[in-house]
Amino acid sequence: MPVPLPPPGLSLSRSLPPSPSSPLPPPLSLPPSPSLSPSLCRAVDMFQSFFGGRGGGGGENKGPEVNLDLEVTLKDLYLGKKLDVLYLKQILCRQCGGSGARSASDVQRCNGCGGSGVRVVRQQIAPGFVQQMQTHCPECGGKGKVITHKCEKCHGSKVQSGAETVTVEVERGSPDGHEILFHNQADESPDISPGDLKVCV
Ligand SMILES: [Zn+2]
Ligand SMILES: [Zn+2]
Repeated sequence: MPVPLPPPGLSLSRSLPPSPSSPLPPPLSLPPSPSLSPSLCRAVDMFQSFFGGRGGGGGENKGPEVNLDLEVTLKDLYLGKKLDVLYLKQILCRQCGGSGARSASDVQRCNGCGGSGVRVVRQQIAPGFVQQMQTHCPECGGKGKVITHKCEKCHGSKVQSGAETVTVEVERGSPDGHEILFHNQADESPDISPGDLKVCV
């Protein structure tokens, strides 16, 4: 009798945030540098993603947080300033709306799995013993849908790079390294909501 197996490891196929490759110095000991200092924010981000319980398996499916370092003068920090910041990010293809298909009718149910995204494979491991395994459908990559004609603009990748502007309000008396969070302003990806954009001044 076949043993029912759990659905294929959906949680394992999710892209994980990059893990810190090397220990970074504590943020406060960094000397003020005239150039961009991505390591400062990046270190804090790593820390939070480690202990903040993000992507802990259940519920929210959100993209990774993105940090942007903004170089402002001390005067701006003391007096406060409003800045328009242009940054590049990944956005959903405006042509196809993130479907990757030329039109809605070009997204079709996968024939390989009948739209379930899962295929059941039976394998005889010994005489009389048949192992039943569920795998991601190789034809659709577990999506259950195939695209017959790809979007001409993104060639099926569903995303493109785009420029976005955020207005950063540096509050009067902000400390150096102050962070301003913009919800859901980071890279857009199909099927998940965008992560937060963190601007570090
Ligand atoms: Zn399929
Ligand atoms: Zn497209």
